[in-house]
Amino acid sequence: MIPSSRGGSSTQFNLFPWRQKPHQAWHFLFFNMTIVEVWENIDSIHAKIFNSNAEVISRDWLSVCSLHTADIQRFLKFHNERRSFMEKKESVAKLQREWMRCFGGESLERAVNLARYMMLFIIFGEAMADPEKKIFHNGNLQKLLGRIPDSGMRRWAFRECLGSCESLGNTKSKVSALIDKTQDSF
Ligand SMILES: [Zn+2]
Repeated sequence: MIPSSRGGSSTQFNLFPWRQKPHQAWHFLFFNMTIVEVWENIDSIHAKIFNSNAEVISRDWLSVCSLHTADIQRFLKFHNERRSFMEKKESVAKLQREWMRCFGGESLERAVNLARYMMLFIIFGEAMADPEKKIFHNGNLQKLLGRIPDSGMRRWAFRECLGSCESLGNTKSKVSALIDKTQDSF
């Protein structure tokens, strides 16, 4: 979710179990944007793709893409690539197709729900990938929530995704609602 080219780690809290096609579509739309950048811009990107009267648009939102560390050669190559992506006029119909491939539908709400579902993997890590969802079994959720650091990505994801959940029951119902809403995408 934070690409390694942006300094993301390969820990369980940064991995999302994409299927291949939506994953490819995600990178076509967002190149190496982080989930934070996608989240902050998701409504304006959606509007550009779905409320545009033009037949072609450029993916100007990719201006936030960068490289975490690189030698000068790789850096130059990256910036050329980014520039060519941004300058290229892309067909709106194709962008809409890729968006639907990525999020499983064209509504902004659906994309927002999927992004929030992704955040559950930042918060809970591999426990989210467990098909039996033992995360909801006795005390597990409480234990997992107790292990979220006070700052950093996981705290960010918790705040954005679950807000100020006063009670454990409240958190639990928000998590399961989000899982239900995104179920048909996977
Ligand atoms: Zn990826």
